[in-house]
Amino acid sequence: MRLILLGPPGAGKGTQAARLVEKFGIPQLSTGDMLRAAVKAGTPVGLQAKAVMDAGGLVSDEIVVGIISDRIHEADAKAGFILDGFPRTVAQAEALDELLAKKHMELDAIVELKVDENALLSRIEKRAAETVAAGGTVRADDNPDAFKVRLEAYRAQTAPVSAYYASKGTLKTVDGMASIDDVTKAINGVLGA
Ligand code: AMP
Repeated sequence: MRLILLGPPGAGKGTQAARLVEKFGIPQLSTGDMLRAAVKAGTPVGLQAKAVMDAGGLVSDEIVVGIISDRIHEADAKAGFILDGFPRTVAQAEALDELLAKKHMELDAIVELKVDENALLSRIEKRAAETVAAGGTVRADDNPDAFKVRLEAYRAQTAPVSAYYASKGTLKTVDGMASIDDVTKAINGVLGA
């Protein structure tokens, strides 16, 4: 199963991806998680990406396509993967098509979580509060200023990715405003699982 989860920041992609990992036994490939790990480790990619990420902007297509290209060839991704947070631009979607075509691989589904934008900021604030309560460190971009930029980047650069897959007839849409369990059920439904 090779799957893409699309949706704005705070839509619940990470939560649903974790459940799909359990169900299908395939890894979640989150470019955000991989970039945060690179920032933490102080790698050249991390050093390059940090300021853009903290401000809520998008890291260059070249960097994220490079990360995904390496990652999908690792052994644990052989049986499939769930892409979370990638592709975020049409150029990334096209690069992914090329990468997969070279490997004779196909995507099984692209699932978009549709959410009311007015609910997103409070979801992000809730996530930050829960992280603090659990003794963790809040993401540098989970604050109202960076969130505004992230939402703008989503509207301008990522929303066209949904249109890209819709025009190919491969996009499935799920109501992301429902409860976490109901969203999981709806995703399983569109996957026929
Ligand atoms: P996320 O955890 O998916 O919300 O990603 C956090 C941040 O990492 C984003 O706001 C971007 O700065 C960066 N990022 C993650 N994935 C991508 C991507 N596919 N393209 C560009 N930037 C990305």
